[in-house]
Amino acid sequence: MPFVEALRCRECGHTYPVEALHVCDFCFGPLEVSYDYDAVSASISRQRIAAGPHTIWRYADLLPVDGTAPVDLGAGFTPLVRADRLAAELGLGELWIKNDTVNPTGSFKDRVVSVALTKARELGFKVAACASTGNLANSVAAHAARAGMQSVVFIPQDLEVAKIVTTAVYGGHLIAVRGNYDDVNRLCAELTSEHPSWAFVNVNVRTYYAEGSKTLAFEVAEQLGWRAPDHVVVPVASGSQLTKIHKGFGELAKVGLLDEEPHVRVSGAQAAGCSPVATAFAEGTEAIRPQKPSTIAKSLAIGNPADGWYALDVVRRTGGALAAVTDDEIIDAIRLLARTEGIFAETAGGVTIATLAKLAAEGVVRRDELVVAYVTGHGLKTVEAVGPHVGPTATIDPTLEAFADAVQLGDDARA
Ligand SMILES: *Cc1c(COP(=O)(O)O)cnc(C)c1O
Ligand SMILES: [Zn+2]
Repeated sequence: MPFVEALRCRECGHTYPVEALHVCDFCFGPLEVSYDYDAVSASISRQRIAAGPHTIWRYADLLPVDGTAPVDLGAGFTPLVRADRLAAELGLGELWIKNDTVNPTGSFKDRVVSVALTKARELGFKVAACASTGNLANSVAAHAARAGMQSVVFIPQDLEVAKIVTTAVYGGHLIAVRGNYDDVNRLCAELTSEHPSWAFVNVNVRTYYAEGSKTLAFEVAEQLGWRAPDHVVVPVASGSQLTKIHKGFGELAKVGLLDEEPHVRVSGAQAAGCSPVATAFAEGTEAIRPQKPSTIAKSLAIGNPADGWYALDVVRRTGGALAAVTDDEIIDAIRLLARTEGIFAETAGGVTIATLAKLAAEGVVRRDELVVAYVTGHGLKTVEAVGPHVGPTATIDPTLEAFADAVQLGDDARA
């Protein structure tokens, strides 16, 4: 960990040693990892990164761990896909999809968990724990298994079947709580003081966990030939990912990896059934009022988002926007992305694409911009959401006549 200087309070600037700390003793502000960027600049280079592993660990110089023995299932370095057919449907120009559905457990959470558990192991924790809306549960259970750590994972009891099965299979403790995510999170905050030897990845090691999301910016810039995009659209649950993508582009500039100063407009996507940050944006207020979530986008269903204010601030400062989309719009967007680009996203991905469509229609996301939309989870995790809306074109007897009667093909397919 040669380049980490300290943990610094985001509110009052007080600094702390690099330990399992997450809030400031003086003002209760959240802590953030700060680096010696001059030292990073002297060591990092495009060539050194290109020679690194095809995972998030190629950017180890800008991650808060020593990285020599990461807890690693291969997270990151996911495809950045040029999406011309989707762009044409939305009236956009140069559009790219960051396809984070193909991570080891099917969501971007593998990035943050790989960093969190690597750090937790360095700090001597034996147990990996978390409060999850589903994807974090998958990822913590899998990475803990990989690391030989015990896991204790807490979820709201009403999660999608796939997310329960793909967590339980790794053999740790999976606790379904009668309540929503905000209830689960409160319980975990209480458990953190009861069990100081447990690493709650999004509570007492959250400061380190959050840094993993910067790799979503690092990869995009590298994959664009060390350019930053003009505009990114990012899904918002706690708001952590959005703020760290912004931080990531800024860090690349600081350490001299970009040719031009980045001016990335950052826009945020929420579901109408849980849109505390988008609502504050629409109302032009500073205060984020907590909501009771009710949406098919369960992975984004955080009614009282820990980093909501910081996400709102990034969006406003960069000239982006936030929007909220209905469950029907989410399903249409999942199908649109699948039909145009061959990528099957979970409901959170539907939120991102539906928000992109809305902001494009409003002229907020523009045709002359290089746009990247972050699609952060795989469609097989939320089959329930689209299941009722798609199915076989026809069910037929096994004869040529039955097929000819049932299906009208276009000219191209007739021969
Ligand atoms: C957790 C999650 C997010 C957003 O995470 P935050 O950093 O809490 O805003 C986005 N997409 C998916 C699929 C997720 O699971
Ligand atoms: Zn402080």
